Amino acid sequence: MAENDCDILVIGGGMAGVAIAAHLSEQARVHVLEMESQPGYHSTGRSAALFSQTYGNETIRALSRASRAFLFDPPEDFCAIPLVKPRPVLIFAQESQRQAFDEFNEFEAASGLEPVAADQAVALCPILRRDGLIGGLVARDTADIEVHELQQGYLRLLRRRGGALTTSARVMGLARNTEGWTVETDRGAFRSAIVVNASGAWAEELGRMAQAQPIGLEPRRRTAALIESRLGASGQDWPMLLDVEEQFYLKPDAGLLLLSPADETLSAACDAQPEELDIAIAIDRLQHFTTLEVQRVRSRWAGLRSFVKDRSPVVGYDPHQPGFFWLAALGGYGIQTAPALSAFAAALVLDRPVAGALGAFDLRPAEMAPVRLAGD
Ligand SMILES: Cc1cc2nc3c(=O)[nH]c(=O)nc-3n(C[C@H](O)[C@H](O)[C@H](O)COP(=O)(O)OP(=O)(O)OC[C@H]3O[C@@H](n4cnc5c(N)ncnc54)[C@H](O)[C@@H]3O)c2cc1C
Repeated sequence: MAENDCDILVIGGGMAGVAIAAHLSEQARVHVLEMESQPGYHSTGRSAALFSQTYGNETIRALSRASRAFLFDPPEDFCAIPLVKPRPVLIFAQESQRQAFDEFNEFEAASGLEPVAADQAVALCPILRRDGLIGGLVARDTADIEVHELQQGYLRLLRRRGGALTTSARVMGLARNTEGWTVETDRGAFRSAIVVNASGAWAEELGRMAQAQPIGLEPRRRTAALIESRLGASGQDWPMLLDVEEQFYLKPDAGLLLLSPADETLSAACDAQPEELDIAIAIDRLQHFTTLEVQRVRSRWAGLRSFVKDRSPVVGYDPHQPGFFWLAALGGYGIQTAPALSAFAAALVLDRPVAGALGAFDLRPAEMAPVRLAGD
């Protein structure tokens, strides 16, 4: 077998690519191709690192529930530090958001979120503006994720199992013949029987190169900033704040505060950059919802969250191109769902039953299959 030949090529060294590659490498020779000089440069390295079982649609929630055990109690040799640090999320509403709050309460009635009155909400997070506040709901089964450690854990696992990652290898063309796939990169040609498309915002583009079915992927920009403020000793333990209409969120992050206007601006696949206007909107909403004074914006960034129309992931073999497997459209949930999604997707790639405890969760292949998007 030639040096660049393997069983499975994974395109994309973000969270999705390295996590599925680690699973697959237990059974197959796996090679990850990443166009940047480091894995995790795009969406994975730019997330807000939240774990919440009540975020996203029912498919996402099932994947998050199924990921919980791994994140909170990982295998002993997987990571050097804990993968999560518990932090409640306080979803609050102002008088002007009463209708949205009522609808949200009704929708989440069975989710186990804890209702709090306005004064209790302020006691939990003293910077919340009391004027106009009508109350909130607290999610307690939520956490900050150590994103870098999670990704490094999967990379270590991949290497221990004999898998490889090549960086600075942009895929420029894909062709299939009776022997399998030939993948052209700027570091030469690679061959495999199976290709996994885990290229994040570029997944539609890679699909086009492979003449696969279009999935209607929409990359959407989200902006974030780290701000300096006088937090006081208790500041680092505040809950994450999220308004009920998801116009804004704020959470302590290593002595600073991570702030986002929760924007979802349509974008081409690219190295997303923050717009000054979005930072200004974030600070305006911060001042509207809280009494916090911003001293300085320490850093700012943007990343792409990619969705298809039903906001569920796209996971499964392409209906037209044998051996071309999609792992894309992970939206704003690709970190928190990575443990279950990668194990589930690897089982589908290998056409094996979903192993172990994951089998107990209601993960439905048809709800994630690319064929559901035919015609988009
Ligand atoms: C501001 C923000 C906040 C977020 N907050 C959260 C959160 O709190 N919780 C959560 O779970 N998720 C969150 N997300 C979403 C999460 O970051 C994504 O769902 C996840 O990172 C997607 O992983 P991925 O591997 O699919 O994509 P990526 O990390 O983008 O990886 C795709 C990789 O493919 C590579 N690639 C593309 N084209 C090619 C090519 N032609 N050849 C070779 N390589 C290629 C890219 O370089 C990239 O490294 C957030 C995202 C943003 C932007």
